[in-house]
Formats: sequence, structure tokens, C-alpha cells
Amino acid sequence: MQNKIIGVIGLGMMGVPMANNLLKANFLVKGFDINTQAKEKIHASSNFEWLNSPQEIAKICHIIILILPDSHIIDQLLWGNGQDGIVSHFQKNTLVIDMSSSRPTNSKVNSERLNSLGFGFIDAPVSGGVKRATDGSLAIMMGGEESHIQPVMPIFQALGKTIIHVGSSGAGHAVKALNNYVSAAGLLAVSEALVSAEKFGINPHLANQVFNASTGKNNTTEVKVENFMLSGTFNSGFAIGLMRKDLQTAKDFIHEMQSPGNFAQLCFEEWENAEKSLPKGADHTSMFAYIKDKNPEN
Ligand code: NAD
Repeated sequence: MQNKIIGVIGLGMMGVPMANNLLKANFLVKGFDINTQAKEKIHASSNFEWLNSPQEIAKICHIIILILPDSHIIDQLLWGNGQDGIVSHFQKNTLVIDMSSSRPTNSKVNSERLNSLGFGFIDAPVSGGVKRATDGSLAIMMGGEESHIQPVMPIFQALGKTIIHVGSSGAGHAVKALNNYVSAAGLLAVSEALVSAEKFGINPHLANQVFNASTGKNNTTEVKVENFMLSGTFNSGFAIGLMRKDLQTAKDFIHEMQSPGNFAQLCFEEWENAEKSLPKGADHTSMFAYIKDKNPEN
């Protein structure tokens, strides 16, 4: 496995620490990002090489990890407009691992198209943020065929701690979007709760301490309230635009499954409004600042 060349396309907040962990596990890694400054953040290693185009990655690498913003970018990159998609440069038996938070329906189509050309596809999105991407303890949820997944388990083991095969192609991306819906709903509820508590004269730190000792405890109360929200730093490393995208994916998925989704729709709209009113590129934890400043009539 270690002699297979792994290409990583997308060296942003998540891609950089993930590539660094692959290098730490002794894999041969080639990287590419449209932002050339990203290469400075990769740990010095003779096992790493920056390539100047995604086509070069496609020509050399046996396994290609995508950790990119969204499905639109991924579909463009893979298929392009005819000739320019990287798929036309793949070598025999190339495996694509899409670790981005993509749309499950797009991933299903990508898997089918790649399989029909003799290539493999796994959707393997991640959860845990920059901190867990850095310490190699991500949760990884996979969709795809066991025969594609088993041979590359050492890659997932280098990146994550909890690795779960949740179903066929697209299932990983579906569970990821649904997880982020649950997480976003929690963060929004905690923000509304803390802002109203403070208005009553309750110290929000104490209110959160109570949540953490009670049934309101969730990832936001445990990890985000003190570190990024009440501290005012709003720098968890996960942009609000990415959270809005995940909520869109989740609510569309719920709709496509003909399941009840009124709350998902409401939640999506509130995050969409927050994104529009906050500065471009704001962190998702800035939802708290948005709720604090918001006119309750709107
Ligand atoms: P990011 O914006 O920091 O990084 C994305 C990178 O992709 C950027 O460096 C950008 O330059 C690059 N890029 C964009 N288009 C490209 C193209 N056509 N070719 C090559 N590179 C291109 O985003 P991120 O926070 O690293 O998130 C990446 C993915 O992981 C997203 O799908 C996100 O939803 C998901 N995710 C993020 C987190 C987090 O906490 N940041 C957690 C879990 C999942």
C-alpha cells in the first residue's frame, strides 16, 4: 500500500493537515491546489511533491483524494467540458476517494460513471474539523464497494479514528450532510438559548456549564461555546458558507427521500440568512454573533 502514489487535490483547512498525516504514515503524496501558497503549509518531506496541475496528479497517482469545497467543483474537475476533465488522464485502475462534503446524488453518478470506465470511487467524507484532521482522529463515513474500501483502509487509518462503512456509493455523503444538519441545528439552538439567557442577566458561561451537565449537552456546548463563541474568536476553521452548503444538501436529500423536513428547511433558511448578513468567509461559529445582533422581529 505504501508504494502506491496518493494524489491530494485541495490543500485548504482540511487538506493540509490530512496530507501531513499521510506523510507521517510514510505514504508517497503528490499535492495540488489552485492556491499555490498552500504548498508552504505541507511539512518538509522527501515523500511529498507539489504538482502544477490536476492533470499531472491524474497521470501519476494510483489513488486520488479530493478534499474540495463542493460537488460543482468536483464534477468540473473530474469530467470538465469533454477533454479537460482529469478522468481522461487517469491510469489503469485509478481509485478516486472523495473526502469532501459532496452531494450524495452527484457521488452516486460519479461512482457509476467511473466504474463504467474501469475506475473506482469511494465517498469518504470526514467530521471533526481542523483539530481532529490535525491529530488524525477524524470520523470517516464511507460509501462504496467493500472491494474498493478494504485495500485502502491504511489510508483511512492514517487520517481517522472512527471509520464506518455506511452503505453503497453516496451513502457516506448522505450521512455527512445529515450529521451536519443535526450539528447546525444544535449550534443555532445553543446560540438562541445563550443570547436570551444573557438578556435575563444569566452569565452565559454558567448557562453553558449547566447544558454540559444536563440533557442539552452537544458538540457545540462541549467544543465550540467557550473556544469560539463566547471568546469572540470565531475561528474554528469551518466557514459558514460550507455549513450552508451542507444544510442545502441535507434538506434536499430529506426532500428527495420524501421524508418530513420542515425543521431542516427552517434551519437552512436561518443559516442562509446569517451567511448573507455576516462578512464574506465568516466562520460558522459566527452564527452566535448573528443571533446576538439580530432583530427578533425578522
Ligand atoms: P477550504 O476552503 O479551506 O479548502 C478548499 C481548498 O480547495 C482551497 O485551498 C481551494 O483553493 C481549493 N480548491 C478550490 N477549487 C479547486 C480546484 N478546482 N482545484 C484545486 N483546488 C481547488 O475548505 P476546507 O475547510 O478544507 O473544506 C474542504 C471540504 O471538507 C469541504 O467540502 C468541507 O465542507 C469539508 N469539511 C470541512 C471541515 C472543516 O472543519 N473545515 C470539516 C469537515 C468537512
